[in-house]
Amino acid sequence: MIDTHCHIDFKEYNKNREEVISRAKKKLNAIINSGATLGGNRRTLKLVDEYKGFIYGTLGFHPVNASKADYNIIEQAFKEINENIDKAVAVGETGLDFHHIEDIGARNRQIKVFRSFIDISNEYELPVVIHARDAELKALELIKEYSRDTDVIFHCYGGDLQTLNKIIEESYYISFSTIICYSDYHKELVENTPVHNILTETDSPYISPFKGQKNEPVFVEETVKKIVELKSMSLKDVDKITEKNAKKVFNLR
Ligand SMILES: [Zn+2]
Repeated sequence: MIDTHCHIDFKEYNKNREEVISRAKKKLNAIINSGATLGGNRRTLKLVDEYKGFIYGTLGFHPVNASKADYNIIEQAFKEINENIDKAVAVGETGLDFHHIEDIGARNRQIKVFRSFIDISNEYELPVVIHARDAELKALELIKEYSRDTDVIFHCYGGDLQTLNKIIEESYYISFSTIICYSDYHKELVENTPVHNILTETDSPYISPFKGQKNEPVFVEETVKKIVELKSMSLKDVDKITEKNAKKVFNLR
């Protein structure tokens, strides 16, 4: 099992990060920490260095942050991403979040930053981890227009079925989080996604499958179990296929 998207660099884990990682190590084969800010990318690189061969990292800039951050900060983030790109297994998270951002200028900023990430992924032939909310189709259109054949992952996808089908048609990946444990809508999305296009994640510390308990990478087991149930497949098969997908996309050994 692999948690392909989490944020264990967040301050939420400052008191128990080592415990959280050691719990993950007992059950998972890898976790991928996703950089969402300038500081987040720095912390991700540190974790990757500290837990070589278990924690992998993606370097990005979250679209909501792209709308709000000072442009110098974004430029500095890009500079450091280019300098450390050999340590990343993908670029992201990046993308478009129109749910939280309504202002047109701020949305255009997201598009600009997203386009720059697509360029980086083309240049270094790295997959792109996309966060898209209320802008899934637009994100797909941009990626189809500008991406040169790199793998694409729609992380924590929650868009409509039509766009989901278009994503699958492109042989891109849908990463389902622990939200499928309780959201009927996301369960329906799982039912409509071939298992060969599925990755598993937690998006920790968000969307815990357990009430009153903070999410953490080891809970990706709940995502896998829910896919087993929804697909009427064996745990062994779902585990094997989704892990194989993750290793292929992120080129893990
Ligand atoms: Zn995330």
